[in-house]
Amino acid sequence: MKDCILAIHGGAGRLKDSQTRAPVRQDYERGLADALRAGQSILFAGGGAVDAVCAAVAVLEDNELFNAGRGAVLCSNGEVELSASVMDGNDGSVGAMAGLRRVRNPVIGARTMMGHMHGLLFGAEADARAERAGLEMTAPDYFITDRRRAQWSELRGTGAIALDHSDRDNVQGTVGAVARDAQGNLAAATSTGGLANQLPGRVGDTPIVGAGTWADNQVCAVSTTGKGDAFAQLAFARRVADLIELTGMNVPDAAAAALDDVVRVGGEGGCIVLAPDGELHQPFNTPQMLRGWITGAGQPVVGILPGEKIEIA
Ligand code: ASP
Repeated sequence: MKDCILAIHGGAGRLKDSQTRAPVRQDYERGLADALRAGQSILFAGGGAVDAVCAAVAVLEDNELFNAGRGAVLCSNGEVELSASVMDGNDGSVGAMAGLRRVRNPVIGARTMMGHMHGLLFGAEADARAERAGLEMTAPDYFITDRRRAQWSELRGTGAIALDHSDRDNVQGTVGAVARDAQGNLAAATSTGGLANQLPGRVGDTPIVGAGTWADNQVCAVSTTGKGDAFAQLAFARRVADLIELTGMNVPDAAAAALDDVVRVGGEGGCIVLAPDGELHQPFNTPQMLRGWITGAGQPVVGILPGEKIEIA
């Protein structure tokens, strides 16, 4: 039996200064800790890595502080479009959905595609499939919060795509999780509302397996956050795995090299990478990345600024 490990991110970027101090900071820390505990309870009860990453991501989707599920950013037409993907490192199966408007938890919708002949479904058909699968559906308005409406009114008509990672935005990004269960299986999942003021129909890295999400029991599990067009251009998550598998690079060097490539193509962001032996890295080249991890029966550890490790009792 292996020690269970779960790690998450809640987006890379830069929070407003006031948000990195109490009391708002505690809301982010609690949100991350709640997601870690949800995944931990599954792993601790003998559940699989796929169950754990989906549970952790679903908790972040339900938390309006993060740009996934409720509280997601708005497209230029004032509407929300959600995307998610999940991958099982044991058998390589994948599931993804994009352009969702009605399924409450996009990551659970993505999971319904695992084992299906099509790995990725888009738009109304994806919502309809989630509904047929018996998932909880909601009105599109459920996802839209006052804070996101205000952000959109500032941007609308400017043509600017407000990155979830820029100074002007109160950054709460895409969410993701990687896990190793007691059997040693790895899994990864990622979920997002995309970029604020993005064109309707835009698809970033998050629902693209190999770009935003990757898991292979022999190599690593990866989930990304950042300027998704750059991450997709590089097939980032798979690139990290290839650097480890094909060139023999160690995990931190592989993640750092891939993030350097992101900068080279004009992007920025971060990722979480978990190796089969439990080695975990959460690098980012933005000023901050919301992140955390939990091992075995331990307490959640979270961080926002570089180097932070805050244990949440
Ligand atoms: N990667 C996401 C996207 O480009 C955004 C984010 O990570 O916040 O859609």
